Amino acid sequence: MKDNCIFCKIANGQIPSHTLYEDERFRVIFDLGPATKGHALILPKEHFDNIYELDDETASNAFLIAKKMASAMKKAFEADGFNIIQNNGEPAGQTVFHFHMHLIPRYEGDKAIGFWKPGNITDEELQVLEEKVKKEL
Ligand code: AMP
Ligand code: ZN
Repeated sequence: MKDNCIFCKIANGQIPSHTLYEDERFRVIFDLGPATKGHALILPKEHFDNIYELDDETASNAFLIAKKMASAMKKAFEADGFNIIQNNGEPAGQTVFHFHMHLIPRYEGDKAIGFWKPGNITDEELQVLEEKVKKEL
């Protein structure tokens, strides 16, 4: 646990929360500033600032929980769609620096989340980008 991290405290039960799911390593809670009805967060009990710090086991388990929760929440809330969002760093919209995944049920016409306007890219530009990434893998 990291000092003064609110999600460490919630995930480890030091601050009470409505818990939708809990196991040894994770807790799933409702977001208190929900984008839509049922918006929830997957929190690992161990502290990681962001995705870059996650170990492989936590990363894979987090997605298994996302899959399980998405199905259950879609049924429970009769959602029409579902977003899974995960922000890293301020420019990406991260405001709480304890890794978490957003589970956001979507409802026809809710307009809850704004998506990007598609841009343009050339094949040459894609080639340069592809090479840059492959060097880092
Ligand atoms: P992010 O912007 O990806 O870092 O998401 C942080 C999310 O945490 C936001 O959607 C907030 O509404 C939510 N949040 C902040 N504090 C709490 C809290 N104490 N309990 C539940 N959700 C919270
Ligand atoms: Zn933390």
